[in-house]
Amino acid sequence: MTNKHSLHVVALAGGVGGAKLAHGLSQTLIPGRLTVIVNSGDDFEHLGLKICPDLDTVCYTLAGIANPTTGWGRWDESWNAMESLERLGGPAWFRLGDRDLGTHLERTRLLSKGWTLSQVTDEFRRAWKIEQTIIPVTDDFVPTMVNTDMGILPFQEYFVKQQCRPVVTGFRFNNVDYSNPAPGVVDAIQKAELVVICPSNPWVSIDPILAIPGVRMEVLSNACPVIAVSPIIGGRAVKGPAAKMYLEMGFKPSALSVAEHYGVRIIDGILSGFVMDNKDKKMSMEIQKMGLQTLVTKTLMKTNDDRKQLAQEVLEFGKELIKKN
Ligand code: GDP
Repeated sequence: MTNKHSLHVVALAGGVGGAKLAHGLSQTLIPGRLTVIVNSGDDFEHLGLKICPDLDTVCYTLAGIANPTTGWGRWDESWNAMESLERLGGPAWFRLGDRDLGTHLERTRLLSKGWTLSQVTDEFRRAWKIEQTIIPVTDDFVPTMVNTDMGILPFQEYFVKQQCRPVVTGFRFNNVDYSNPAPGVVDAIQKAELVVICPSNPWVSIDPILAIPGVRMEVLSNACPVIAVSPIIGGRAVKGPAAKMYLEMGFKPSALSVAEHYGVRIIDGILSGFVMDNKDKKMSMEIQKMGLQTLVTKTLMKTNDDRKQLAQEVLEFGKELIKKN
């Protein structure tokens, strides 16, 4: 692999899709040059524990201890605690492995002693020897609520318990107006030479990050390029409900819809560049006509080499946009 890049990069990420590109970026950038700002809208309390699914997925992935099959949780996991809980009739719908439980126990303990979520995250990433910075977008509790045909559901009830079956009519980020970005978030965005919106779910992974007061504005105040990678390939989500959400919200699921979702910076959106899959090549003209620079490439990350390759290409694309800026 060529020399590592020295750009200061901010990546906005949810869980599974976001973590894969963040992992690629962490391996192609010099340590300390990447800050991953992670969605915390999926966080919830369960079994008396604070669970942060996206944060843990990003940390486990960058630490090399994630489960490569599921994309969430840890590899080499055992399920004794869950089996025991189930046997007692406890709520076992949200699967927490034994190793994973250790994370939630310690996080909950530290939070109860007065630590903030970003402090706990920083402590954990050091323990896991992650050399890049990972910050939850906010230390405040801003849970994503999903408006559905079954009523308003907390995100994990929709996502895991109901397995995304209810028809979505909208989203709400409770308490968002009273929340603040976590320490380090604004600094990292101000320092960034490139912002990458990872291929995460735009509705429930990236929008909740941009909705935290100050975050979107800081991204817009920084003149650096902002590039999004489409999580929709050939009209489908690689995993999860993103395509279904687009349909139910009245849009055709496509790379174009994702580009339109974020919008073009010079109009009233946020993007300057857009990365889409070879499968969607036909749409690139239309996306360019919106005013975006495009990169068409292989965006499906099945292996670690795919992650590094895509990260490398995104960084090269970013450098081109910086030159043109
Ligand atoms: P979640 O919070 O765990 O749902 O994770 P994210 O929001 O980060 O990721 C979900 C999104 O990632 C889905 O919309 C997927 O289509 C997308 N995704 C997952 N893997 C890949 C991949 O390899 N390439 C691309 N382009 N998108 C992916």
